[in-house]
Amino acid sequence: MASKAQVQPEEHNDGLADYEDEVAEETSAEAAAGAKAKDVKKGSYVGIHASGFRDFLLKPELLSAITDCGFEHPSEVQQEAIPQAIYGQDIICQAKSGMGKTAVFVLAALQLIQEADIKEGKVDTLVICHTRELAYQICKEFLRFSKNIPDIKVRVFYGGIGMDIHRQMLKKETPHIVIGTPGRMRALIDEKLLKVNAVKRFIIDECDQVLDNISMRTDVQAIFRATPHEKQVMLFSATINKELREVCKKFTQNALQIFIDDTKLTLHGLQQYYVKLEDKAKNRKLNDLLDNLEFNQVIIFVNGTKRCEALNKLLTDCNFPSICVYGGKGKGGLSQEERLKRYNLFKEYKSRIMVATDLFGRGVDFERVNIVINYDMPKDADSYLHRVGRSGRFGTKGLAISFVSTTEDAQVLEAVQARFEVNVKELPDEIDTSTYMS
Ligand code: AMP
Repeated sequence: MASKAQVQPEEHNDGLADYEDEVAEETSAEAAAGAKAKDVKKGSYVGIHASGFRDFLLKPELLSAITDCGFEHPSEVQQEAIPQAIYGQDIICQAKSGMGKTAVFVLAALQLIQEADIKEGKVDTLVICHTRELAYQICKEFLRFSKNIPDIKVRVFYGGIGMDIHRQMLKKETPHIVIGTPGRMRALIDEKLLKVNAVKRFIIDECDQVLDNISMRTDVQAIFRATPHEKQVMLFSATINKELREVCKKFTQNALQIFIDDTKLTLHGLQQYYVKLEDKAKNRKLNDLLDNLEFNQVIIFVNGTKRCEALNKLLTDCNFPSICVYGGKGKGGLSQEERLKRYNLFKEYKSRIMVATDLFGRGVDFERVNIVINYDMPKDADSYLHRVGRSGRFGTKGLAISFVSTTEDAQVLEAVQARFEVNVKELPDEIDTSTYMS
C-alpha cells in the first residue's frame, strides 16, 4: 500500500537541526559514569484491577488489530490512561519504560478520529518525539493498529531525508496522522505544506527530553501555536521531573496527571549490577561477559560516537555479531538511511549485539533485548533509567550491568540508587541464567 511504503526514507541530506545528534554529542564529551524478579511473560501482563481491551468500547477494527498484535490484557498505564484519553481529556503521563504507553496514544487517536474528518482529508493528530528512529517506530505502531482502517493515512517526517521528498508527499495528499521530529515538522508547517489548522490532538512522546532541549522546545512551541487553541494534548515519558511538570502543564488544560513516585519506576523483572574497574579493563570484562552470559539480544551503551565505532570494531574483530548506531550529523556521523537500516537489522533480530550512544537510550523498543550493558555510565540518573529500560520490556526479565570507572560514574550510580530506591549490587561471579532469561 502506497501510504505504508513511504514510511521508508528514500534519501537523506538536508540542512536542518538534528537534535538526536546533539544528544549524542552532549554525552560524548567525556566518558563519565535490584528489584525482585517477577516472572511475567510478555503479552500476559495483568494489572490488579484488570479490565480488558473490550471494556474500552473501541472500534471493532481496532479491537481486531489489538488481538492480531497479540495484546491480551491492557497494562496498568493502559488501563488508567486509555479511558481518559478516548474521553478526550488532556493527559500528562509518566509511565514505566516499556509498559505500553505508545498504545495509549495510538489507540486513542485512532479511536477518536471521525469518519467525516477522514473523508475531509485534514491533519487530525500530530505526534512529536526526539529522534528519527522513535518517530519511525511510532509510525509503525500507527500502521499496525490502523491496518483495518486503511483510509486513515499515516506519515512520518524527520530530518536526514530531502525536504523535496516531504514536499512532494504533502502536495500529493494530506495525511490524517503525522509523526515527526520537531525541526522537520516545523519547517513543513512554516512552508505551509503541512496544514495543522484543524488538528484535534497534539501528542509529545519522551516529552521531558523534547521540552528540556531549548531548540526543540522552541520548535514545539511554534508548532503548538500553529494548531487550534481547542485540542487534546497528551504528553508522555518515563521521567518527568518537577520543573518539567510545570512546563508540561503550560501545554495542557485540566490535564489528568499520572505521576509515578520515582521510587516505583524501576522495572520488577530487571536485575541490576555494577562492576568497578579501570577504563582500560573494560574491554576485557566486556569480552568475558559476552562469552559467559546467555542473551537473546544485548545493547551496550557508550558515550560518544568514536567510542561507539571503536568498540564495535573491537567486538566484530573478536567475531561477536555486533553492529553499532550513533548520530553525529556530517562529521563522521551515520547517514539516516544507514541508521534506520541498522535499527531494522536489530529490530528484526538479524544482529544480536548493538553498540549504541544515547541515540537509542530511550523510546526505542527491541522486545528481545534482555541485557543492557553501560560500558560507559550515563550522564545522570534519568538517562540510566531509560537506558536500562531497553531490556525487561513489558514485564519480561532482564539484566543491566554498569561499568563504574570514575568518581563521576560512582556519583551517578549513587544518584540512581537514591532516586529510584534500587539496590544495585556488585556483579557476582555467577548469575543464575533463569533470573534474567524468560
Ligand atoms: P512501549 O512502552 O509502548 O514502548 O511498549 C513496550 C512493548 O510492549 C512494545 O513491544 C509493545 O508492543 C508491547 N505492549 C504494549 N502494550 C501491550 C499489551 N497490552 N500486551 C502485550 N504487549 C504490549
